[in-house]
Amino acid sequence: MKKQIAILGSTGSIGTQALQVIEEHPDQYEAYVLTANHRVEELIAQARRHQPEAVVIADEQHYQHLKEALSDLPIKVYAGMDALCQIVQEAPIDMVLTAMVGYAGLRPTMNAIRARKPIALANKETLVVAGELINELARVNGTPILPVDSEHSAVFQCLTGEVGNPIEKVILTASGGPFRTFSREQLAVVTKEQALHHPNWQMGAKITIDSATMMNKGFEVIEARWLFGVQPEQIEVVVHPQSVIHSMVQFEDGAIKAQLGMPDMRLPIQYAFSYPDRLHASFPRLDLRTCTSLTFEQPDLQRFRNLALAYEALNQGGNMPCIVNAANEICVAAFLQDRISFLDMSDVIAEAMQRVNFIRKPTYEDYVQTDTEARRITEEILTNER
Ligand code: NAD
Ligand code: MG
Repeated sequence: MKKQIAILGSTGSIGTQALQVIEEHPDQYEAYVLTANHRVEELIAQARRHQPEAVVIADEQHYQHLKEALSDLPIKVYAGMDALCQIVQEAPIDMVLTAMVGYAGLRPTMNAIRARKPIALANKETLVVAGELINELARVNGTPILPVDSEHSAVFQCLTGEVGNPIEKVILTASGGPFRTFSREQLAVVTKEQALHHPNWQMGAKITIDSATMMNKGFEVIEARWLFGVQPEQIEVVVHPQSVIHSMVQFEDGAIKAQLGMPDMRLPIQYAFSYPDRLHASFPRLDLRTCTSLTFEQPDLQRFRNLALAYEALNQGGNMPCIVNAANEICVAAFLQDRISFLDMSDVIAEAMQRVNFIRKPTYEDYVQTDTEARRITEEILTNER
C-alpha cells in the first residue's frame, strides 16, 4: 500500500520539494490531494503530472478555470478554505504535509489532527500561534506530529534511540541570514531585494524575510518548545553561518549530538514521510573535505531584535506568540511592499505586543479573535505613525 499524502501548499517551496520526494519513491508515496492559494497554473501542471484524487484552490475565483483545465481527468476539484479544511479528513489520507504559509495553516492542521492524520509539519506558524492547544489536541487524539523544519528534524533525528533520556538543552543553529555582519546603520537601509537573497537556502518570500530578521529563529524556538516539551531556557540559539550542522541536542551527561547535511529540505521532508525508516535518496551528499571550517557565534539581540521579541512572547505565553505572529505577517507584507523599513518591523511588532489585549489561557476562538485584532492594530500602527 502506498502512503497517501495530502500536501497543503503544493505549489510552494516545500510543496514542490515534497513532490520531488514522492517522485523519487513512486512505490512508496502518492499525492492524494494538492492545494494552492492562487497559483492556479502551477496547480494544474502538478495535478496533470501527479494525478491526485483531488485538488483544492483556496482562492475561489480560480475555481472555474481549474475545473475546466482538469475536466478530462478524474480529479475532484474544490475551492475555498472550508473545502481545504474538510479534505484533510478524507479516509484514504495517511499523512498531511502542512506546507502552506502563515496563520492560514492553523485550521486545516487542527482538522487533520482531529481526524488522526499524522502531520508532517512545515507550517511552524501553527505551533507559534497555538502550540499548547495543538499539543493538547494531538495528545487527546493520539496524532503524531513530525517536524519538517530542518532544525527540528535534526533535533528529532538526534533523539532517536534516546527514549527516557531527558534533554538538557536543544541547540538550534541559525545561518544568521544575509545581514549577519551588518551594523545597525547598514540594516536601516537594506532593501527587500537584499533581504530576499538568502545565502544558504532557497525558500518562499515570507520565511526568507523572517530569516533575514531572525524572526524565523525566534519562531523556531517556540516551535521547539512545543515539539520537544522543553522550557524556553533550555533552548539555545547559536549562529552557524555554514548551515552544515542543522541543530543539536545536549543530554544530561553533557554529550551533544548533532545532525549534519546539505542545506536541502528534501531530506527532512523525506524523513517525516518515512520515519522511523530511512530511504535511499539521490540528493547531493555533504563532502566534509570541503567544509574546512565550521564556526559558531552568539546571536546579536540588539541588531536582530525580533529574536528577543519571540523569546519574550514565549516567556509571557498565552496569546502573546499569536500577537507576534500576526503583527509579523503584516510587517513582512508591508516590508515587501516598501511600506516600512527593515528595522521598523521590530518597532511595530513590539508596539503591537503592548497594545493587543493579552489573554493568559486562550481558547481557539480567542486565538482567532487575537489574530484579527492584532492584524487590525498593526495596520493602524503602520498607517498612523509612519
Ligand atoms: P511558499 O510561499 O513557497 O509556499 C506557500 C504555499 O502555501 C503555496 O503553495 C501557496 O499557494 C500556499 N498558500 C499560501 N497562503 C495560503 C493560504 N492563505 N491558503 C491556502 N494556501 C496558501 O512557502 P514555503 O517556503 O514553502 O513555506 C511553507 C511553510 O513551511 C511556512 O510555514 C514556512 O515557515 C515553512 N518552512 C519552509 C522552509 C523552506 O525551506 N521553504 C523551511 C522550513 C519551514
Ligand atoms: Mg528552519
